[in-house]
Amino acid sequence: MSADLIYLDNNASTQPLPEVVEAMLPFLGNQFANPSSTHQFGQAVRYAVEVARGQVAGAIGASAKEIVFTAGGTESINLAIRGALAARPTKRRVITSGVEHSAVTRIGEQLAREGYDLQVIGVDQAGQLDMDALAEKLTDETAMVSLIWANNETGVILDVECIASITAARGIPLHLDAVQAVGKLPIDVANLPVQLLSLSGHKFHGPKGVGALYVKRRTRLRPLIVGGRQERDLRGGTENVAGIVGMGVAAESAKELPDGDKAIAGLRDRLEAGVTEAFPGARVIGKDAPRINNTANISFPGLEAEAILLVLSENGICASAGSACSSGSLEPSPVLQAMGLDQRISHGAVRFSLSHINTKDEIDYVVRALPQLLARLSALAAG
Ligand code: PLP
Repeated sequence: MSADLIYLDNNASTQPLPEVVEAMLPFLGNQFANPSSTHQFGQAVRYAVEVARGQVAGAIGASAKEIVFTAGGTESINLAIRGALAARPTKRRVITSGVEHSAVTRIGEQLAREGYDLQVIGVDQAGQLDMDALAEKLTDETAMVSLIWANNETGVILDVECIASITAARGIPLHLDAVQAVGKLPIDVANLPVQLLSLSGHKFHGPKGVGALYVKRRTRLRPLIVGGRQERDLRGGTENVAGIVGMGVAAESAKELPDGDKAIAGLRDRLEAGVTEAFPGARVIGKDAPRINNTANISFPGLEAEAILLVLSENGICASAGSACSSGSLEPSPVLQAMGLDQRISHGAVRFSLSHINTKDEIDYVVRALPQLLARLSALAAG
């Protein structure tokens, strides 16, 4: 990253920690053996994979046997949902929410086309799930529930203790998309009745293209990718050893919650206060809801987020609108629409997402620069 960039797009991807890169390097070079090989060379590589499995498990209170490595968060989510459904072929109802990442939303759309009974639970203006509706929709026909823990766009946290107690009372498997929760919230699956939980390395200062699915002991699951019998026959294919090793090291430091601590909340609050003072019409989305500490979704009603992002980018400031996967489209974010926000608000919503690498000086620079940049855009919008 160029030194003069201010990177406030950490929910899209985070900078790998130096120790992550260092740990990966041997496995991109001379430690190239296949971890399934029985010779010593292969077994040394196997050992590195298993150390990483323990590190990832440790970050979420799981045991190593409950971790399946995947090629990222999206694959983990696909394995959780498709794998759980394949293991329960007679059950046809699937429950999710209106504020999911596109990985879950698009699987839901596919399932509906395939004849599944997809139920999408609504949220209120603060992004909080309608728990009564969730309890009501759980029937004996329900195969599983899949919900996002911390929202990638707004940072809003769902009450997963409450959700898990509702699903556990009915004995229905729960999958949590915890991709944005790891490294920002304490996670202890040993004390949470959740059966499946998705993680992604690059969201907590690890490498891209590697993730994991936590599968609680005795949860029925079918593989999505078959081939070799890697990952206890739940994910065929030779492991991405360097990625797995890097993710393990990142998971170790994610346990200490560097991106979830109070210092990040302090920077986030400084940004929100500064921006709303400079631009009185600005509105912080989800401000009164429980949120992860690093995310500020600020709307500038009357302006277009895409235009704001462009001028920010020209001035060396990296932020996002909606999720990275949908940016580039002018459709308002489905997450903000599900929260019932009007179009002027959702069209003008910009996500600033911080990490422990950001500094107070960077935030102050953004707060100072934004009014002039937005004044130019406001003049254009008015003219
Ligand atoms: N779930 C959430 C909440 C995310 O924010 C993301 C990435 O943006 C994903 C899933 C997908 O993860 P990956 O990029 O590792 O496929």
